[in-house]
Amino acid sequence: MSIKTLPLSSERIKQIAQEYGTPFHLYDEAAIRKNARQLFAAFSWAPKFREYFAVKALPNPYILEILKEEGCGADCSSMAELYLSEAVGIQGENICFTSNDTPIAEYRKALELGAIINLDDISHIDYLLDNARLPELISFRYNPGPLRNGGNEIIGYPEQAKYGLTQEQLLEGIARCKSLGTKRFGIHTMIVSNELNCDYLAETAQMMFNLAVKIKNQLGVSVEFINLGGGIGIPYRPEQEAVDLQVFGNRVKEAYESILIPAGLTEVAICIESGRMMTGPYGYLVSTAIHYKDTYKNYIGLDSCMADLMRPALYGAYHHITVVGKENAPCDTMYDVTGSLCENNDKFAIDRMLPHIDMGDLLVIHDSGAHGYSMGFNYNGKLRSKELLLREDGSIKQIRRAETLADYFATLDYPHLAK
Ligand SMILES: *Cc1c(COP(=O)(O)O)cnc(C)c1O
Repeated sequence: MSIKTLPLSSERIKQIAQEYGTPFHLYDEAAIRKNARQLFAAFSWAPKFREYFAVKALPNPYILEILKEEGCGADCSSMAELYLSEAVGIQGENICFTSNDTPIAEYRKALELGAIINLDDISHIDYLLDNARLPELISFRYNPGPLRNGGNEIIGYPEQAKYGLTQEQLLEGIARCKSLGTKRFGIHTMIVSNELNCDYLAETAQMMFNLAVKIKNQLGVSVEFINLGGGIGIPYRPEQEAVDLQVFGNRVKEAYESILIPAGLTEVAICIESGRMMTGPYGYLVSTAIHYKDTYKNYIGLDSCMADLMRPALYGAYHHITVVGKENAPCDTMYDVTGSLCENNDKFAIDRMLPHIDMGDLLVIHDSGAHGYSMGFNYNGKLRSKELLLREDGSIKQIRRAETLADYFATLDYPHLAK
C-alpha cells in the first residue's frame, strides 16, 4: 500500500489556492530531497554511483538546482535540456546526453559542455566524425532485442523499440572507436518504464554486467560505467507498493559482486537516469471543480485539462484524486473527472468513486511531479499552468508562472492579435 496523502493541511492548500489561483502543480522540496538521499544511500556501496536526473520528467531549473545539491547530474536529450542543465551549473560528465535521431547542433552543444555522449546508433560514430568530433569518452545505448524477454506497456518490447544498438553493433562500435583512439567507454540501456518489480530491474543490471564482461573478453576494453537508464516505477495506485530502493541497491550489488568483480571489473561506476521515481510522487496538480453535469454519466469539469497532465488521456494512466477537505468522507459517488479540451479523452479519471463534490471544491491529482507539466501542450489554445514549490520551511515559491495568451501568440506576427 502507498498512502496517498497531501503534504499540507487542507486549510493551507485552500489558502495557497486562494493566493495563487488554480490550477497549479505543487512540488514538495523536502520529499524530493529525502527520496534522493535514500537513493544515494542505497547505492553507497558502489564506486562512483551517479544519478543523472532525466530532465524531461520535470524540466524546471529550480528543481534541477535542488537535485544538483543532492548530488544528481542530468540526463538530457534535447537542446533545451542541455541549456537548462548548463544554467544550473550541471556540466561536463555530470551530463549524460542520451538522445536519439539527434540533430548535429545538439551533439555540438553536448560536446561543448563536455557531456557524456551516449550514442543511439552505430552510424552516429561517422555522423560525429563528419560533422563534429568524437569525444574522449563514448557511451553506447544497448538494445537487447529478442535477447531480453518482456518489456512493458509504456516502452514496449525491446525489438519493437527504436532505441539503441544490437549487441553485434555495440561490439563493433566499441572496436571501431578503439581503433580510432578512444580509450574511455561506457554502456547504457533503458528497456523498462514505470517498472515496480525489483526482480525485473535487477535483471537489467545482470544483463548489462554480462555484456560488460563480454566486451572485456572480446575487445580488451574495460568500460568505465554501466548506465541502467531510467524506468523505476512509482505506485500511482494506492494498492501498489513503491520500489524499495535499499532492496534494489542490494540486488544490483549482488550482481556486481557475482558478475563484474570475478571478471576483474572492480571499478565500474553504476549510473541510473531516473526521472519519474525522483520527482513523480512529490508533485500534485491542484484544480478547482467548476462544473457539474449529469447526462448519461456524472461529470466534474475542472479548470485544468490534458494540457497540464496528459498521462491519463495518453496511456489511460491512473492518477489518484483527493478532494480537499473531504479526505475522510465516504467515496460514494461515481464521476468522470474532465478537462475542457474538445477531445473526449480529456479525462483525468473515468468511473472514479469519490466523495460528493461541490462546485468550488479543490481536487488534487496525485503523482504529477514527473512527465506531468513537461508533457503539456497547447492544443485548443489551452495554456499550461503555473508551478509552485513547497519549500522545506513550509513557504511557497512560484517557480514558473502560468502561460498567457501573449506566450501562445508570441510566434505569430499578426497585427490585429491582442497580446
Ligand atoms: C525518459 C527517459 C528516462 C527517464 O525515465 P523515467 O521513467 O522517468 O525514469 C531516462 N533515460 C532515458 C533515455 C529516457 O528516455
